[in-house]
Amino acid sequence: MPLIILTGLPTSGKSTRAKQLHTYLFERIQQASSSTPPTPAAKYRLHLISDQTLSISRSVYDLSAAPAQHTRSANASEKDARAAIYGAVKRVLSDRDIVILDGLNYIKGWRYQLFCESKAVRTPSCVLQIGCMRDRARGVNEERLQRRKQQQQQQREGANDDETDTAKGGEKIEEEKENDEEGPYEPANWENLVFRYEEPNAMTRWDSPLFTLIWEDDEPQAKQVFDSMWDAIAGEARKLVRPNQATVQRSRDSGGDYLYVLDRETQEIVKKILDQQSDDGGDEISISKASGEEGDELVVELPAGKKVGLPQLQRLRRAYMNLHRGGIGLEGVGNMGPGRIRETFVGYLNDAFEKDG
Ligand code: ADP
Ligand code: MG
Repeated sequence: MPLIILTGLPTSGKSTRAKQLHTYLFERIQQASSSTPPTPAAKYRLHLISDQTLSISRSVYDLSAAPAQHTRSANASEKDARAAIYGAVKRVLSDRDIVILDGLNYIKGWRYQLFCESKAVRTPSCVLQIGCMRDRARGVNEERLQRRKQQQQQQREGANDDETDTAKGGEKIEEEKENDEEGPYEPANWENLVFRYEEPNAMTRWDSPLFTLIWEDDEPQAKQVFDSMWDAIAGEARKLVRPNQATVQRSRDSGGDYLYVLDRETQEIVKKILDQQSDDGGDEISISKASGEEGDELVVELPAGKKVGLPQLQRLRRAYMNLHRGGIGLEGVGNMGPGRIRETFVGYLNDAFEKDG
């Protein structure tokens, strides 16, 4: 598959998913080579490239940290970093090398450039967007800032306490650094990156196929998305790009939260229906208007005589999301609140079941 471009807000869980994906692909390639005879997927070599693997510091994205002299533009260090990443990708990318590129990858033109690069070596590319509420991502960064501050304080105290035994102290600090390899972004840098973030758009060649994982997605959910990624770009039938629930385009002006809420609310309703329906069908499932609350303001009327399966519910959820995700030419429909999403999704399901029955 060759090139998998991760994208998402800073500290939104990209590296976590990249590692999960790496494990997943590693196992699939192992399976392919241990089956007799080995399947074609056995040929793949796997690479994970990120700012960390290339020792690129967070500060390269910090426009305010640019050198005072006017010899270089404010984002010169970021440009250098991109050149380093580009070089690293180019060195290994081929039709038999799968490259997971973990990073912000927030610039549309940059993703386009990577897309062209994989086209040039005749191998497919795809984008995996990590969806996370802005406040949560910000919280993760703040925790890391806090931890760094504490560590620095400990270091200073340690140095004062025990000036004679500096060797030991030094060792300990090294150890801590190893554990916390991913440092925080400076707050202004973080906010600025969120501001500059250019959402992927599944309608463009370079951002498709576009897959999405959100923070709450559990292991089975992630596996499902990884499965469809594999099918779409590495499987035997890789030309047959199957549309799937992960391929959702996000509203452009929502800063990422809208898609997340849309996904979460509809998923919760689907889950509730699956959990509560009986074997004979025809149930009325109560859905509260607000997430996580008990209540029965909304009612899903299931068709009589049969159970509604997960595939059907996912199909309906996908269709609903496509109608309401917003995006180019669809700006007006985006940005409903969670309550309104629940209401319209329940209405949508009832209409569908009524036509069906
Ligand atoms: P990024 O690479 O986008 O900066 P990370 O993957 O490093 O983000 O994740 C930031 C922090 O959030 C890590 O401490 C990680 O353990 C935690 N984290 C990431 N994704 C999830 C998730 N889906 N659920 C719970 N915790 C997560
Ligand atoms: Mg990361």
